[in-house]
Amino acid sequence: MARKIIVIGSGAAGMTAASSARETDKEAEITVLTEEEHISYSPCAIPFVLEGKIKDFQSIIMHDPQFYQKERQITVKTQTKVESVDAEAKTVTLADGSSLAYDSLILATGGTVFVPPIAGADLPGVFKVRFIKDGMQIQEAMKTCKKVVVAGGGVIGLEIAVALKHAGLDVTVAEMFPQVIPRICDGDMAAEVQAEMEKEGIKFLMGRPLGAIKGEGKVESVVVGDDEYPCDMVIMATGVRANLQLPNQLGLEIGPLGAVHVSATLQPYRRGRIVKDIYLAGDVVMCSSAAADGPTMSQLGATAVREGRVAGINAAGGYATFPAVLSAWISQIGELQIAGTGLSCGLADYYGLKVVEGRATGLSRARYYPGGSKVTVKLLAEKETHRIVGAQILGREDINGKINWLTAAIMKGVTAEEFVSSFENAYCPPTSMVKDVVCLAAEDLTRKL
Ligand SMILES: Cc1cc2nc3c(=O)[nH]c(=O)nc-3n(C[C@H](O)[C@H](O)[C@H](O)COP(=O)(O)OP(=O)(O)OC[C@H]3O[C@@H](n4cnc5c(N)ncnc54)[C@H](O)[C@@H]3O)c2cc1C
Repeated sequence: MARKIIVIGSGAAGMTAASSARETDKEAEITVLTEEEHISYSPCAIPFVLEGKIKDFQSIIMHDPQFYQKERQITVKTQTKVESVDAEAKTVTLADGSSLAYDSLILATGGTVFVPPIAGADLPGVFKVRFIKDGMQIQEAMKTCKKVVVAGGGVIGLEIAVALKHAGLDVTVAEMFPQVIPRICDGDMAAEVQAEMEKEGIKFLMGRPLGAIKGEGKVESVVVGDDEYPCDMVIMATGVRANLQLPNQLGLEIGPLGAVHVSATLQPYRRGRIVKDIYLAGDVVMCSSAAADGPTMSQLGATAVREGRVAGINAAGGYATFPAVLSAWISQIGELQIAGTGLSCGLADYYGLKVVEGRATGLSRARYYPGGSKVTVKLLAEKETHRIVGAQILGREDINGKINWLTAAIMKGVTAEEFVSSFENAYCPPTSMVKDVVCLAAEDLTRKL
């Protein structure tokens, strides 16, 4: 009899898991259940649709359920909420009371935007940004709103802030920490991002939490610290929490960072034992750090896809494991690109690691080649072992390759000295300096160690 595989969730993790399961088991009966109306789109593209760089929301939807049925024999049931799972009977119960049986189950239920418990958070004019429908609602509101406060200066908040500014709105970012992109980025690098955005006319309220949202029937102002600022739209980009509704109902072990604790095969635990035939992937999962000994939250589309592959293979009877992660990230904020991998100084401190910093600023092309721009690379190495544990890069073009290069080196436990002596770089005048800025930063690091 064909293996019955049920996937809950149609995000990056769920759809990748379903496709990987199909590649592993050609005969399996695979069903994806999702609350959403639209599937197979990239939430990462929402800011760029709002900005008008991408024509419309339809353009970021890669496939519809008919495509999955026809091309991959995967049934996708949209607007179908799973209310509960019975791990003993191996059934899921839907909102309409009906039940479906499974042999293997993949929970890819993602995350939800954390909204701080403040007055006015439910007023019309307050939006979250997570799903395509959130983007569509913001786009509709942009037709009448003029003044927006983006709560949260993380990467998503900043991308949204730039998008709305470029679309003609008056934009203020409210961030409770004293720097933007807190946690994953260091203050010196973050300050350059903030300065660039200020040049574009975006205002910042730093170091004070959003205290309340006020208005009679709709948003009229926000309270930040002791001050009140008028606005007609608030966007909550205040962080993501794992969606634990089904994991909690199943009694799965939740890790110290508030997401599901899983084995290398992405299986959950209950009372210390692996729960058979259930796999997890995506933002609902807690990962292990590859740069330090301890847990981490990755919460990236890139990670969700890699986890989805492992969960899909295992659920279909194959074998794959998911390793520790560095959570390499990159963002385009206006004309600026910022990227990071592994530990920032703040994260090193969290893991109790003493680090030394190396830094270099150079150009994206040979000095004499027209059109080059400034690139800054910052590297962190563990003081005791000289192992590189983190990197951040600021530039205006092509920093993706550099951060991926450093991610590979960190993953392999390379020391600063080994990087300088053995890590080659490709070069031609239009693409880099003959000695890449990454190499200059590594040399600076070896001098400081
Ligand atoms: C604006 C924005 C920009 C981003 N930019 C980037 C970027 O540039 N690079 C990057 O790597 N990452 C980026 N991310 C993060 C990335 O989008 C997420 O990490 C990724 O989408 C997580 O995928 P997921 O499948 O785990 O979860 P989700 O996409 O949250 O999917 C969860 C799914 O589960 C379903 N679901 C949940 N509970 C139930 C239930 N009970 N019954 C049925 N269905 C259920 C939901 O309907 C949904 O389909 C961005 C995110 C946002 C919001």
